[in-house]
Amino acid sequence: MTEFDLKKEIAGAIKGEVKDDAATLAIASRDTSLFTLTPELVVCPKDTADVQAVVKMVHDAKAAGADVCLAARAAGTDMSGGPLTTGVVISFTEHLNRVLEVGESYAVTEPGAYYRDFEKETLKKNLILPSYPASRELCAMGGIVANNSGGERTLEYGKTEKYVEELDVVLSDGSSATFKALSPEEVEEKKKLSTLEGSIYRGMDALLTKNAALIEARKPKVTKNSAGYALWSVRDERTGATNLAKLITGSQGTLALWTRAKLALVRPKEHRAMLVLFLSNLSLLPEIVERVLRQHPESFESYDDHTFELAVKLLPEMLKQMGFVKAARLGIDFIPEAAMVATGGVPKLILMAEFAEDTIEEADRKAVAARDALADLDVRAKIEKNERESEKYWIVRRESFSLLRKNLHGMYASPFIDDFVVPPSCYPEFLPKLNALLDQYETHFIYTIAGHIGNGNFHIIPLMDLSKEENRRVILELAPKVYQLVIDEGGTTTGEHNDGIIRTPYLPMLFGAEMVALFAETKELFDPLGIMNPGKKVGGTFEDIERDMLRQSA
Ligand SMILES: Cc1cc2nc3c(=O)[nH]c(=O)nc-3n(C[C@H](O)[C@H](O)[C@H](O)COP(=O)(O)OP(=O)(O)OC[C@H]3O[C@@H](n4cnc5c(N)ncnc54)[C@H](O)[C@@H]3O)c2cc1C
Repeated sequence: MTEFDLKKEIAGAIKGEVKDDAATLAIASRDTSLFTLTPELVVCPKDTADVQAVVKMVHDAKAAGADVCLAARAAGTDMSGGPLTTGVVISFTEHLNRVLEVGESYAVTEPGAYYRDFEKETLKKNLILPSYPASRELCAMGGIVANNSGGERTLEYGKTEKYVEELDVVLSDGSSATFKALSPEEVEEKKKLSTLEGSIYRGMDALLTKNAALIEARKPKVTKNSAGYALWSVRDERTGATNLAKLITGSQGTLALWTRAKLALVRPKEHRAMLVLFLSNLSLLPEIVERVLRQHPESFESYDDHTFELAVKLLPEMLKQMGFVKAARLGIDFIPEAAMVATGGVPKLILMAEFAEDTIEEADRKAVAARDALADLDVRAKIEKNERESEKYWIVRRESFSLLRKNLHGMYASPFIDDFVVPPSCYPEFLPKLNALLDQYETHFIYTIAGHIGNGNFHIIPLMDLSKEENRRVILELAPKVYQLVIDEGGTTTGEHNDGIIRTPYLPMLFGAEMVALFAETKELFDPLGIMNPGKKVGGTFEDIERDMLRQSA
């Protein structure tokens, strides 16, 4: 079957749109990664039946010998190349975008709902999904679940996997299933089915039982991970339940496409106080992190001297985007920071520990206790007693990256070492080695380091001119060196942004050959023909990175 036939067939079978105009394909060919892949078609399904029809057609075409595949797309903000494909893009934001229900402790949503709209609905009941990512104003629920996203409140509340209770999915042959917690007896019933769902339950049950020790041993030991398939999360040892929704979460649309999710929600705390720490001696970092964590901050974030200096330098640009009153107030608030830059007194690292409680007194008490616990250490500390006072720190933490991107023309934000996680105990050895490595490449890019310091999760997104061959070579040369450092410390290559095209080739290095073979077996059970987002999670190569990388300046 030719691609043209596929287009006609799909258009004739679904209620939604099938597009292949240049503008639509151009949008679908990019996410926020450093890759570009142009699809054949973009399909916008109206409902689950449409998704089933498209998947079945691609499945049948592949079975008949066509070279065709598909990838799901929500808002397309992925940094790893996750939603990019040369095949058929199934785009969810056009129609499958409703928040269907908000209950007393949960919400039911479709994948195309933007997080900002989802939160508007959940806040009506004073509830939130606390694993929302930093891209909360841009991204949609499809990617939050499929990437197993995390963010600034993950330290306290965990990642999306913790909140996914149930997923309605379309399997690779176009059949549908609901994955949710099942008792051992219910799993036995599922195993009797003569469908793809039945064969998945039979295969996964055997795989998980036979390899339980290996899976437990290779489970990442850091507090956040989006690398590989979360085989360790499928069975709940405490309840004895099996929940395949936990495996679909974070699988980047490589096992199944989800069309409806039931997500647990939490009631956010009302009041916040922030302890801000200005650190010049990095060797104190593990001790500081340990002592602050004892007071259970809701978030514990950091940014480095490069970020700080750039934020002050680009302050006028930043203020321009705000209203006059806010800009004037923030301009005044930033005077001490501007003075630090002018006098060369910028600290190496700024840490922000935010304590959230139901009363301001309790939040403040925790911030004071954390500050007092550091009294014998050489670190400057300041307490911001309300959200208005801590706003400027959040602005630098959240906005500096986009500012940098907008203001340095000709340079692409190039995520390739953007999301690794190390145990906080290794900071004194790890950070100097990391900095030394990055400094070796300083002629090729500008970089800042920011991250979730409480979880050991760092975001480094260098700005590079990708039109230059020598810069593109750095991506393949530096990443393995950084990842080797991370793995030597017991870390993981991605805490939230996931594997995609950019990190799938590092999975053997991270998990070892035996575990990677289990990932391949899992993929084979769900997607025997290999039509679901191939090259991500399983089978991706360094050649893919090289071939699909952008080759132009911004
Ligand atoms: C400035 C910036 C900051 C960011 N900060 C964070 C952060 O703090 N934490 C974080 O986790 N990420 C972050 N990201 C990455 C990204 O925004 C998030 O991972 C986000 O959740 C992706 O959502 P999306 O709707 O854009 O997904 P997309 O990019 O559309 O897709 C992401 C993946 O999900 C798959 N997918 C989408 N819908 C479905 C579906 N229905 N079924 C199966 N698979 C599906 C896609 O195939 C793809 O593999 C950031 C990105 C940017 C640009």
